[in-house]
Amino acid sequence: MEDVRENLRISSDAQSNSLSKKELVVIDHAKKVFNDKLEVGCTGCGYCLPCPQGVDIPENFAKYNDYYLFGTPETKERFKFGYEMGLLNGERASACTECGECEKLCTQEIQIMKELKKVKKLYET
Ligand code: SF4
Ligand code: SF4
Repeated sequence: MEDVRENLRISSDAQSNSLSKKELVVIDHAKKVFNDKLEVGCTGCGYCLPCPQGVDIPENFAKYNDYYLFGTPETKERFKFGYEMGLLNGERASACTECGECEKLCTQEIQIMKELKKVKKLYET
């Protein structure tokens, strides 16, 4: 409830276009750094689901991007552990049989089969 009150107070006090030029530059820079590190431009919309094999496509890409955004070769094992904990066997990239159904539906025109192979290489080999 406290969070709701704070959010209401902030949105009541805030003015549109209230960010300074300097603040906008900082935001643009942060956006660029973030986008440059992103490996797969998956928005997590889920339009590609359900996969007939049960692959959780957006979660695979989210965990893949997490490694490139926040990981290092030294922390790879920790991210791999997170992948194994977060996805059941049948939901992992290796369960993809390359039927191609999901690619017809992807809103971002991602080459899902190709990208899933990279996820598999990072986390399942
Ligand atoms: S290509 Fe792979 S991930 Fe996509 S729907 Fe087919 S089995 Fe699922
Ligand atoms: S449709 Fe494309 S962008 Fe949306 S969750 Fe699936 S892979 Fe990601």
